[in-house]
Amino acid sequence: MEEELKPMDAEQLREYGHRMVDFVADYYKTIEDHPVLSQVEPGYLRKILPDSAPDKPENFENVLSDVKTKILPGVTHWQSPNYFAYFPSNSSTAGFLGEMLSACFNIVGFSWVTSPAATELEMIVLDWFAKMLKLPDFFLSTGQGGGVIQGTASEAVLVVLLAARDKFLRKLGKSFLEKLVVYASDQTHSALQKACQIAGIHTENVKVLKTDSSTNYGLSPGLLSAEIGHDIANGLVPFFACASVGTTSSTAIDPILELANVTKNYGIWLHVDSAYAGSACICPEYRHHIDGVEEVDSFNMNAHKWFLTNFDCSLLWVKDRTALIQSLSTYPEFLKNKASQSNTVVDYKDWQIPLGRRFRSLKLWMVLRLYGVENLQAYIRNHIELAKHFEELVYRDTRFQVVTPRTFALVCFRLLLSDSKDRSNELNSDLLHAINSTGKIFISHTVLSGTYILRFAVGAPLTDKKHIDAAWKLIQDQATSLLQKHINA
Ligand code: PLP
Repeated sequence: MEEELKPMDAEQLREYGHRMVDFVADYYKTIEDHPVLSQVEPGYLRKILPDSAPDKPENFENVLSDVKTKILPGVTHWQSPNYFAYFPSNSSTAGFLGEMLSACFNIVGFSWVTSPAATELEMIVLDWFAKMLKLPDFFLSTGQGGGVIQGTASEAVLVVLLAARDKFLRKLGKSFLEKLVVYASDQTHSALQKACQIAGIHTENVKVLKTDSSTNYGLSPGLLSAEIGHDIANGLVPFFACASVGTTSSTAIDPILELANVTKNYGIWLHVDSAYAGSACICPEYRHHIDGVEEVDSFNMNAHKWFLTNFDCSLLWVKDRTALIQSLSTYPEFLKNKASQSNTVVDYKDWQIPLGRRFRSLKLWMVLRLYGVENLQAYIRNHIELAKHFEELVYRDTRFQVVTPRTFALVCFRLLLSDSKDRSNELNSDLLHAINSTGKIFISHTVLSGTYILRFAVGAPLTDKKHIDAAWKLIQDQATSLLQKHINA
């Protein structure tokens, strides 16, 4: 007898769901038992899973058992307290519960009418967040602009680039596409370059302005101004600039106010990418890093990085929502409805690339309500204190150097070698691999002005001082043995 398919059986969901929550809770409890960076070889999974999907249903126990024995070894544990790579990507109980709720309703909230609560809650939490960041009133839903949750910072920069492009082309005519110029520093995330490729901006018109240690890798307003002047003299049309507050390599900060003073003279759309550091700006003592945001056209931060909100949840505010909607709206017959036609509602499908969208505001709402702003500020401050502690440990060991000033919870450092830069780069690359292949901690790297640098980013929710101390001891031990080999070579 075939077993009847009951995909929405409440009792089965209750039973399996409880077991799954137990699995997740146990996973978090024992997360340190796993190597933080997965140590499997490419193609490992194909060797141990069947070639095709099962014809008949399998039992839940067997699937869960495969998760433990076959999937877990191939997972890199971003929630591990020993995860210090890239930037954090926080989970939390509140974020997790919000994801569960979103999966529960499983709505597709492209238009207000498809789930009014999804659109309205998104508007409300984005307004709450804008107030926490002390963003100007025009970013609130009650002003000319408003906030929207995008999947990622990459989508955020793409949609505002399209809005700015079309705003200019509507005025100048489509043939001006080849004249449009974009500006950003060489520290800007590659998401901007991808957005320019998609938006049809000519490669030679994407001006990547050089930075160096003299400005701690922040973009110089003088350099931007000179480049714009030069381009205008050559008949080009500057239309978009991207400033970063907290770059990916080293958390460098572009001076927003000074840059805005340049861009506003030309009507250039200024976007701020604060994907990582935006979270810290809810603390009054870090808010000054986004001073000047009153002068920009759009602002973005990822709540899914350092804000206890499970991936994906990238918050974007725009000053002029009409520009976004003019670029991205479509209104086919099958989506027509009274609410949209009355012009009294927001249809978020017109603020993003896809049509479909998840109920993502639920998880952010849960995080804000279950934790509260004061706890969230304390959470950020604790990570920054832990990073400060790590930085002091590096300073104390004269074999190492802290390469750029630490501003948030990322420490950029390297092992020193007195002979050539090339050999020093190789040594640090070897050190990175030696550290990560222990499976005990996971760190990542970058290159600044040709120098290979190790990045230690504090920000996983379970990380404590003891993890920092143990990580530093491991780094020191690996450095000692590597230097020994180097001397013997
Ligand atoms: N901008 C900055 C400053 C980042 O650090 C990152 C990712 O780390 C991104 C953009 C891209 O983020 P996403 O994966 O959300 O597109």
